[in-house]
Amino acid sequence: MGGAIQEIFRRHGPAYLAEFGKTLPGSHARVIEAIIDCRSAACGSVLYQCEDCGEPHVAARCCGNRHCPVCQQGKAEAWLARQLDRQLPTPYFMLTFTVPAPLREFLRGHPREGYGALYAASAGAIKALAADDQHLGADTPGFFGVLHTWGRQLQYPVGVKARTNAGSDGGESKGAGVPTPARSALVQRSSSPAGGSGRGPLKRAG
Ligand SMILES: [Zn+2]
Ligand SMILES: [Zn+2]
Repeated sequence: MGGAIQEIFRRHGPAYLAEFGKTLPGSHARVIEAIIDCRSAACGSVLYQCEDCGEPHVAARCCGNRHCPVCQQGKAEAWLARQLDRQLPTPYFMLTFTVPAPLREFLRGHPREGYGALYAASAGAIKALAADDQHLGADTPGFFGVLHTWGRQLQYPVGVKARTNAGSDGGESKGAGVPTPARSALVQRSSSPAGGSGRGPLKRAG
């Protein structure tokens, strides 16, 4: 996968940056350039004295960019192991919060504000609905959210995938997770200008 992304960027990245580089967030352009250069002479090289054969070997350095799928696979696996280690002994559910299509372009251009608002709205919805007796009925749900910005076809289906447990140390679980209609109603309300019209996010949604 990492090599495929790098191959795509190497083949099409320079033309893409030439056309859209000026309107792209600077961080995006830097990531593309880092992935293109990863493990090439552009990143420099390291000379190893090999313990096996005693010969010196030259290895191209990697870019170290945290978004690079070529060289950051090990860190991703370490992150996954840490999350699995923190799991509580309860069932877990995957909750998906997807951004409506008309808002996606705005988020792409304003990632700091947009993703921040998306995390705040999705976490707020989980906390509010988990506390609701109709759903989890416990006020301390365990969850974490992962930003999702790539689909299998490399489209931009931006959203947060949250993994939440079905129980809590604040009480016994009364429900089996938080149903989609209630969740989306709450996120829409908390992120729309009309959200404050007398129906606070802690009121039951749906
Ligand atoms: Zn060797
Ligand atoms: Zn890299």
